[in-house]
Amino acid sequence: MPERIRVTVWNEFRHEKSNEKVRKLYPKGIHHTLAAHLKKQAGFTVKTATLDEPEQGLPDKLINSTDVLLWWGHQAHGEVADSLVDKLQSRVLAGMGLIVLHSGHHSKVFRRLMGTTCNLRWREANEKERIWVVEPSHPIARGLGEYFEIPHAEMYGERFDIPTPDKVVFLSWFEGGEVFRSGCTWQRGHGRIFYFRPGHETYPIYHHPDVLQVLTNAVRWAAPERYFEHSCPNPAPLEAIRG
Ligand code: ZN
Repeated sequence: MPERIRVTVWNEFRHEKSNEKVRKLYPKGIHHTLAAHLKKQAGFTVKTATLDEPEQGLPDKLINSTDVLLWWGHQAHGEVADSLVDKLQSRVLAGMGLIVLHSGHHSKVFRRLMGTTCNLRWREANEKERIWVVEPSHPIARGLGEYFEIPHAEMYGERFDIPTPDKVVFLSWFEGGEVFRSGCTWQRGHGRIFYFRPGHETYPIYHHPDVLQVLTNAVRWAAPERYFEHSCPNPAPLEAIRG
């Protein structure tokens, strides 16, 4: 693991500009709220990036100096350049951690890395969510109890069309009856990926202490041990081959 974990929080940053309710919860944007929390953690160097910045916030220099990328998007997934998705995919395969938040399930980068539709059931009805910690010994569950609750949430329900995760760390139950795999991990190449469901923009979910604890844990878990880019070599044999 690098001495300091270089974290970049990317946000499409559109709802906050157009919706007064969202702006009240996140006056400087969701990215700013998340970054302010992560900056307080030991060993993290945190930057932010947004869609409307030059190079969609992620010039090569920043991509290549990011150890863990957090991704929040919703209404503008289609505007993210395919060439940027190519670069992010390569960087994950080489070791960068990726944490995909809430509606980021439909982001280009997540769908690319999963290879499935990532569709799910959803309902916006202000209902309670109980998030069960089903892998309490996983590093992403550090410091949590058996479950935690979000009093007002948008529902996401199964089936979530994802490849079978390496681990399902969190399982949500919703007041309306559905369940959902809310915290899932995968490895792609040398990179670790974590999808975390909570985070609908019209609720104060990124001010919830347990949600923030999960994100801190997830950054530490997703940080790469080392980077490794694969070529496709054609080596001479190490020993004489007798045939
Ligand atoms: Zn949402």
